[in-house]
Amino acid sequence: MKAENNPYYSTDRMILAENIPLQTPLTMFFCPTLVCNLSCKYCVQSYWKHSENYKSYIQRWGGAYMTLETVEKAIFDCQSFPDKIKDINLTSFGEPLLHTDLPRIVRLINEAGIADRIQFFTNGTLLTKKLSEELLDAGLSELRISLQGITAEKYKDIAGATVDLTQIIERIAYFCSIKGNAKLYIKCADIALDGNEQKFYEMFGDICDKIYVEHIVPLFKDVDYSYLEDKDGSKNKYQQDLKTTRVCPNCFYTIAVWPGGDVLPCCNFYEPPIGNVHTQSLVDIWNGKARKEVLLRQLRCEYDYNCVDCYVPNNQQPSDNLDGSVGEIIKRLEVI
Ligand code: SF4
Ligand code: SF4
Repeated sequence: MKAENNPYYSTDRMILAENIPLQTPLTMFFCPTLVCNLSCKYCVQSYWKHSENYKSYIQRWGGAYMTLETVEKAIFDCQSFPDKIKDINLTSFGEPLLHTDLPRIVRLINEAGIADRIQFFTNGTLLTKKLSEELLDAGLSELRISLQGITAEKYKDIAGATVDLTQIIERIAYFCSIKGNAKLYIKCADIALDGNEQKFYEMFGDICDKIYVEHIVPLFKDVDYSYLEDKDGSKNKYQQDLKTTRVCPNCFYTIAVWPGGDVLPCCNFYEPPIGNVHTQSLVDIWNGKARKEVLLRQLRCEYDYNCVDCYVPNNQQPSDNLDGSVGEIIKRLEVI
């Protein structure tokens, strides 16, 4: 197998506690869409789609798709951060390839020179040869494919969808053959493999740069995870022993723009938003009062509704741990 067997996250990380407050986000999420063509049983999409509030939920966040106007305003703002953003992630709670302007969005970000890396997660079912060519030509740095099984039967069971797996594999292989310096990461959920991890590695290990089997954990409050064997979560999603973290580091280095321009302080749902790109600049929101209050509440363990039982902190890396530096970071934030 040519690919490295590891999770997707970078291990070349700064010691976060030493660098707060950051002048520029390390990670920015652009949420191109809130809809998905699959309904994986462990994903919040499967809950939303059957919820009577689905339409109002989509409306609440400004519609199903981010407009180019919103994309352009966010990119314009990012040019005023003092440094480049390390990672722009065009992923959210939907399938990015459903956005018909995705290659154009990648190109706009790339041409603005605001990020070291542009990447997104996709389920891969909508990836065509033409789209691969357009995305790479636009400047995509990394494609991350999340598979829901290695048989059509498993796709039906996990994702509620009928797929042509032979075609998906051919198209992934094509992306790999033309990707040049761009990276390709492929993962699959452990519950979608029924113990056939070796087969997964044999099928995909030579057509990507990194590969991994992710452990499914209860990530979303509303989703029924009663079928999971590890319901108590002894391992995190990277198969590491679960270590509870008091302070969530995610909001200290991340910012997210949702379809209607609302800005959230982390990669998860967060109410209320800390601003909107159509009324404020992203730099002002990043340095503003609303975000600072989110950070201080997090440090003081005055958890917001969003943060109570949130699983995201359990998947953080040791270099991001802030628990031992709380007093010092509060002092630094209070003087700005
Ligand atoms: S493909 Fe991804 S976003 Fe869509 S339902 Fe599955 S896990 Fe959720
Ligand atoms: S605990 Fe969850 S909801 Fe709260 S800031 Fe962290 S990622 Fe966001």
